[in-house]
Formats: sequence, C-alpha cells, structure tokens
Amino acid sequence: MLKNFFSNSQPTEEHLPKEHLLMLVDGELPTKDASRAREHLETCWTCRGDLEKVENTISQFIEFRNKVQIPLSPSPPRKWDRFNAELIAVKEEVNTPKRPWLDFPTSHHFNCGSE
Ligand SMILES: [Zn+2]
Repeated sequence: MLKNFFSNSQPTEEHLPKEHLLMLVDGELPTKDASRAREHLETCWTCRGDLEKVENTISQFIEFRNKVQIPLSPSPPRKWDRFNAELIAVKEEVNTPKRPWLDFPTSHHFNCGSE
C-alpha cells in the first residue's frame, strides 16, 4: 500500500486551488468537487500540506478569538433594551417621506411675475 502511495505521488492533474481547500474544510465544496479533491489529497503531499496549513490557520484564528478578542472586547456603552424602539422610530421616519411642496402656498405656484 505504501509502495502504491509513493508510485502515485506524482499526480497528473494540477494541484488543488487554495480556495477549494478552504471550502473543503468548511464543507462548502460541491459534492463532486469534494470527492475529486479528496482523491487528489490521497496522493498529493503538497496539497495535503496546504490543507494542514489551512486547518492550522483556522484553529489559530478560533483560539485567538476565544482567548483574546472576545474577553478584551468592551461591553456596549449602554443596555440594548431601547434599541428596538429606536429602530422602529427610525423606520417610521424613513417610511414617512417629507413633502415640503405640499405645504407651499398654492397661490405662489403659477403666479410667475404678472404682479
Ligand atoms: Zn496537489
């Protein structure tokens, strides 16, 4: 089996693109591409190394986020309990277009300099 592995260690197809490796790790690569990628990974040390780097980078990012970013992030300046009410107020303001021309006295509209 190991002999097979080394005899197949020169893949005939091109290496996997980095974005495919990322999508594969994330489970977002379409099934057909994913199985082709896994087949390639079985025989290609280069892509396997790249895959390992992608996985390490992701786990370092998660570790950083959990140990540093989240604990050091400041709390919001005040409670969010009024946020919904403020959001509704803004939505109503946006949905009620201001039409100042309706308030303009009609006598001025067509009175173009005859007086
Ligand atoms: Zn490869």
